[in-house]
Amino acid sequence: MKPRVGIFSFSSCEGCQLQILNMENELLDIVGAIDLVTFREAMDPVARDYDVAFVEGSITRESEIPMLEEIRRKADVLVALGACATIGGVNAMKNKFSPEENLQEVYGDAGSEYYDTIPTRGIDEVVDVDYYIHGCPIDRTDFAQTVTSLLLGKRPYTPNFPVCVECRLKENVCVYDRDDDEICLGPVIRAGCSAVCPSFGSACIGCRGYVDQANFDSLIKVMVEHGIDEEEAKKKLRMFNTGNAKAQEVEA
Ligand code: SF4
Ligand code: SF4
Repeated sequence: MKPRVGIFSFSSCEGCQLQILNMENELLDIVGAIDLVTFREAMDPVARDYDVAFVEGSITRESEIPMLEEIRRKADVLVALGACATIGGVNAMKNKFSPEENLQEVYGDAGSEYYDTIPTRGIDEVVDVDYYIHGCPIDRTDFAQTVTSLLLGKRPYTPNFPVCVECRLKENVCVYDRDDDEICLGPVIRAGCSAVCPSFGSACIGCRGYVDQANFDSLIKVMVEHGIDEEEAKKKLRMFNTGNAKAQEVEA
């Protein structure tokens, strides 16, 4: 029997679901190998039960908690999909400010007094998560690799080394050796994207979250040597990762 799969979404831009829909070469094979029962961005639900749940989005409202807990109860395997779900993502930047400040910044005086919000969290701070697909948005090959591994009964592969490794394998000139003013977070960010940003003349801004053994102090020193102050360096490190439990090490 094919595994029944549901794709769910909480607070997010839904860009990770869109990445799945954009898998022109693999999508038909994937939907042929599974029994897709719900996929918010693509179809109406056809069944209430599922074996595998992919969950996009962070938890930012109290009302989302029981919904996520129900998904966890029903699914044998739960996969966090994208930065909002895995580490809180950009949604968690609001945690640094009061609800009143956020309301004023976004809506000005037109903001409602009722603002249904709690500090943003990645989903593993609410329920147990079995596997993670990182990135903002996710890398399509990562999604295909995860689905294929689950179908084969294997553990999906998640790198735990920094973006710099993939960057050097591609023989890129390091951002810190270029003569622009870019600041790169590659030394502390989890690989798996083939260092796409530095490879195309930009810099890593940290969307895949921190590696387990991140050396924040050394990177902050490098960033300061390259022209920004320590507070600015920490802000860059927090951009996607305010909701990441390891972010406290950046503040230390
Ligand atoms: S460009 Fe960034 S990711 Fe690449 S080696 Fe340098 S610091 Fe690392
Ligand atoms: S290089 Fe950094 S910001 Fe760019 S996709 Fe990879 S992890 Fe994300």
